Amino acid sequence: MDQNRSLQTSAQRIVVKVGSSTLTRNGQLRPRKLGEIARAVCQLVDSGREIVLVSSGAVAIGSHRLGWTKPGESIRQKQAAAAVGQIGLSEVYRKRFREQEREVAQVLLTRGGLENRERFLNARHTLLELLRLGVVPIVNENDTVATDEIRFGDNDNLSAAVVNLIGAQLLIILTDVDGLYSEPPQGGLQRGELLDIVDEITPAIRGAAKDSASEFGRGGMVTKIEAAENAARSGAATVLCNSARPNALLRVAAGEAEGTLFLPGEPLRGRKHWLAFTARTQGELTLDEGAIDAVKRHGKSLLPAGIQSVQGQFGIGDVVTCIDDRGQALARGLVAYSSEELMRIAGRNTQDIAAVLGFDRGEEAIHRDDLVLTSE
Ligand code: GLU
Repeated sequence: MDQNRSLQTSAQRIVVKVGSSTLTRNGQLRPRKLGEIARAVCQLVDSGREIVLVSSGAVAIGSHRLGWTKPGESIRQKQAAAAVGQIGLSEVYRKRFREQEREVAQVLLTRGGLENRERFLNARHTLLELLRLGVVPIVNENDTVATDEIRFGDNDNLSAAVVNLIGAQLLIILTDVDGLYSEPPQGGLQRGELLDIVDEITPAIRGAAKDSASEFGRGGMVTKIEAAENAARSGAATVLCNSARPNALLRVAAGEAEGTLFLPGEPLRGRKHWLAFTARTQGELTLDEGAIDAVKRHGKSLLPAGIQSVQGQFGIGDVVTCIDDRGQALARGLVAYSSEELMRIAGRNTQDIAAVLGFDRGEEAIHRDDLVLTSE
């Protein structure tokens, strides 16, 4: 076995993401496919591995149950369809897992819910307890309450958030293509060669993942690459593979060279990962060259002196994005001063802070322990 592929066998806690393209055909659920996935998941759980399933399909099934020939166009229609379809999805999963004598649990999440660190930890504890009980959690986005600002929008990104939430070592994305090809598809045809191992998500890899969203699923290859990158920053590997290949899931878990394997990166632990990927930012700080250098290259704290301008309204302890003067995001962090205060001390030297504000809360606008780089 390829040394890298052994990551697939050593992974104990695994998130499996199944897309609408796998679970439905012409808007109809494929119960046999669900049965096949349920059997494979149960086999893995029986062998001592912990699996969380992230499943799409609610909008597709709901649209079909409502007699629509096409998925709803507006967000409201999609939310209504998801509410109808989620029941169907759960019914079929429950039935299929019961055949294997395994309980399932329905867990509906939103980005908005996980942005709050306390709720994030609550969701984490619930999922870990379910795993401890031998139950298979089936996760989807809570489409009913998920407005644009608080939703993941696609289950690829949701599955990566779940990887981080439970500290999984492997994300398996089951989809309708064999993996990532070296060139973006054209006219529905794959081009270039199928990549076996991707050790880093470079601009060339992003270029190969030109968007190709399917009709019901929201994500295309782009969101799958985002998910792989996000999982890598959690220290997890990702395998992207074709669910149509026989026993794809079991073969991946057994370390076989299925699809494309994305290697894990240097993990960002706990709170920093949450800061980088999950937390909602309340404003932006534009940094000057000196501050960019200090923060990016030397891992230093951000001082008010290096801030050129402040956008948005935020309070102490809120999350902000640090950008350069072209608007490119560089880092995220928790601010020690409110937007109002920072506007007054931006560009000022440390010794001026107390004179301008009448007090100071330390010399850092964002302490380095509260700062995480988001771009390389
Ligand atoms: N949550 C949506 C659904 O269940 C799917 C989103 C996606 O496919 O990425 O239909």
